[in-house]
Amino acid sequence: MKSSDIVNPLEQRLETIKQQINTACEKVHRSPEEVTLIAVTKQVSAARAQSLLNIGVKDLGENRLEGLLEKQEIIEDAANWHFIGNLQTRKVKELIDRVDCLHSLDRLSLAKEVNKRATKPVDCFVQVNVSGEESKSGITPQEADAFFEQLAAYEKVHVIGLMTMAPNTRDESVIRHVFRSLREVRDQIAAKNLSYAPCTQLSMGMSNDFEIAIEEGATHIRIGTALAGTEREESK
Ligand SMILES: *Cc1c(COP(=O)(O)O)cnc(C)c1O
Repeated sequence: MKSSDIVNPLEQRLETIKQQINTACEKVHRSPEEVTLIAVTKQVSAARAQSLLNIGVKDLGENRLEGLLEKQEIIEDAANWHFIGNLQTRKVKELIDRVDCLHSLDRLSLAKEVNKRATKPVDCFVQVNVSGEESKSGITPQEADAFFEQLAAYEKVHVIGLMTMAPNTRDESVIRHVFRSLREVRDQIAAKNLSYAPCTQLSMGMSNDFEIAIEEGATHIRIGTALAGTEREESK
């Protein structure tokens, strides 16, 4: 084997995912440029997050304040930081100016605290619990209209779209239905033309379902294990 044949496994995974994104986009006549790939690094080290930036990834996702701080301490490159996890109100103060985008706005009390603590407007996704599973947070689709009206009070909360997680199932039709429903709620809110909530984007799709999500209109996909891997694998 020539040395040039030895490819960094991270690079190989990134290449595979990019190809899958392209294929999914082609299927529904979308441009891959409409899809932002967020590498979820919650299960890996700061060194691995840095390696992802080194091979051209620009967006990183974390679901805990502690994980975010640990990475930001070491990583000096410009990166877009996405917060994708449940956010406790008491952690907003330390977190909010450190992220470019909050994907988990799921209650008015959180909007109020973001508004109080942020020093500039924050791009947010409102999390919607489409599947109705108790384990998942988010507003219900039925609550969306009223929720968005009430967000008008919080000028620093700028809602760019909706976020959801599909159920953990192999049944593609169930997953597709969840993503499609989120898109319908998005269309309903976007039609209101709210200045503080253009709500044109869709954060949906993870390692196991991002191709379906893209087919259903995802603009932001959040990929952990299929790209960044896991700590267990990292230590091998
Ligand atoms: C962990 C996580 C992901 C990534 O999950 P994978 O299945 O590892 O791709 C995406 N979104 C959220 C909200 C997560 O917590």
